Amino acid sequence: MLLKRLLPLSLVAVLATSACTFQLGEPLNVQPTSETSVRPDAPQNGDGPAVEQPGVPTGNSSFSDAEVTQEINDAVTVIDTYWKTHWNEFFTGTYTPPTVRGSYSGDDPNRFTCSGELAAAMNAYYCINEDYVAWDFNLMRDGYAEGDAWIYLVVAHEWAHAIQNRLNDSLVSVAGELQADCLAGAVLYGSTQDGTLQWEPGDTAEISAGLTTLGDESPWADPSSHGDSIERVSAFGKGRIGGVVGCLNAS
Ligand SMILES: [Zn+2]
Repeated sequence: MLLKRLLPLSLVAVLATSACTFQLGEPLNVQPTSETSVRPDAPQNGDGPAVEQPGVPTGNSSFSDAEVTQEINDAVTVIDTYWKTHWNEFFTGTYTPPTVRGSYSGDDPNRFTCSGELAAAMNAYYCINEDYVAWDFNLMRDGYAEGDAWIYLVVAHEWAHAIQNRLNDSLVSVAGELQADCLAGAVLYGSTQDGTLQWEPGDTAEISAGLTTLGDESPWADPSSHGDSIERVSAFGKGRIGGVVGCLNAS
């Protein structure tokens, strides 16, 4: 998955396995910061982009940390651009992006805190009280080894939590994780339609594999909020077809 301006990376053989526990963070608190409503004339994505072949995950067996950082920066740019470009089509009010604190190391004793709580290792999260997104670089690196789409999925998902926090409560689903997956699907496919993101062979399979890992293996406590792997893939697909509005509670 690429920013349109970039040349494709040379992707090589799939790494055998990953021992890490992929985990996406939850907001620590659910106080909305604004009263944003959906516009009555908000468009939907229609049928979404043409169905591409899912392919197989295109893993990366040899890469530098700088490549991972570049991919993260590209993902942030694409996702922020989508919301900046389209916010007024969907919502009242003005779009403000969350702060991107970005990468930390889960074994750094001086890593980020959210409301005084140290960021968890091998996690990514949106900190509601401080309105920022962050991720353990080790999580991103391990995910990148399985395919670059992982990074886009993680950033889009955490960004979606920041979006949820900007919306009127009535638009936010109680199944917050599934709604974040849905919004991630809406943004990544919407960006593809905008031409700011290029979907590569294998990306769809990488997304499915990432969501399956998250649904099946993550130590989440509340299945009604987080969903199993089928629900997560389904939620992502719902965003792809219905766009942002299709993910909102009131739609
Ligand atoms: Zn989440």
